[in-house]
Amino acid sequence: CAKEAGRCRYSYFTDVMSARAEQRMRTEHDLRIALANEDFRLHFQPRVSHCDRRVIGLEALLRWQRSDGRTVAPDEFLDVAEQTGLIVQIDEWVMREACRQSREWQASGLPVVPISVNVSLARFDAERLISHVRAVLAETGAAPEALEIEFIESQMFAQQERGQQVIGELKQLGVQVAVDDFGRGFSSLNYLVQYKFDTLKIDRSFVQGMPDPKHLAIVQAVVAMGQALDYRVVAEGVETHEQADLLASFGCNEMQGFLFSRPLAAEQLPALLRNGLPADFRRSA
Ligand code: C2E
Ligand code: MG
Ligand code: MG
Ligand code: MG
Repeated sequence: CAKEAGRCRYSYFTDVMSARAEQRMRTEHDLRIALANEDFRLHFQPRVSHCDRRVIGLEALLRWQRSDGRTVAPDEFLDVAEQTGLIVQIDEWVMREACRQSREWQASGLPVVPISVNVSLARFDAERLISHVRAVLAETGAAPEALEIEFIESQMFAQQERGQQVIGELKQLGVQVAVDDFGRGFSSLNYLVQYKFDTLKIDRSFVQGMPDPKHLAIVQAVVAMGQALDYRVVAEGVETHEQADLLASFGCNEMQGFLFSRPLAAEQLPALLRNGLPADFRRSA
């Protein structure tokens, strides 16, 4: 009868809910252990100059090395990390490890390129972030201009005042600041005027939408706007030569994407930093 079916649906619903809640609690529990054990690793994806195929930067991307041997990407645990506030400690670990690694490569005679780290503003505390950046630079001896902090556009927007303050202080320290995933959220052009970023990263959904005419128009306009506002413009998620050539024809020379390189484990970086990109990317223009 209808009553029975209703009860059935209800208990199905609560089962799904509690399974999900349980899953989140397990992830939270595991994340706490992972933090204590430092079960995280960084992978590094090169940012390249398209015209001469040089590696001009590295983005540090978080990976969780789980005890069952799986390597887990952030999309699987960022939500939980943000909701529980664990993201603050995780991002602090990432920043310290990125700077430490950068100094290690430098000490072994490799060319120094700036490293970008992603920082979540979901649970941040402006003072804590600034004092952490200061401490990490002092501890590791990394040069401030060799560190770039990427903030996701949508979080920046939700944190207007504190965002503006934190950017100002980072810039005073000499650290570079980037707006990440530009165009993915509800962009407001207003904050591009208010904030003083160094770098604007065009979200990969626009890059990958090319050569659809609407995406072409948006990418071209964003590149022109970013450059007119004196930002370094970086295209994310470049996967094909066609996309790369279109971007270059719009005047966007800085790119990141699987076309050039996937994010690489730290052990793979010395060869890349020493020798540049493999020869098959260096086709004649
Ligand atoms: P993001 O900062 O925009 O980083 C770029 C993401 O796009 C990376 O995914 C990278 O592997 C992927 N990617 C790069 N090139 C291509 C391409 O050509 N095609 C495609 N389809 N994807 C490409 P990943 O490493 O899974 O990271 C996902 C997101 O997680 C990052 O997006 C960033 O927002 C966040 N994230 C990563 N590491 C951290 C971290 O340490 N802290 C915080 N708060 N967030 C992080
Ligand atoms: Mg990023
Ligand atoms: Mg991005
Ligand atoms: Mg992203």
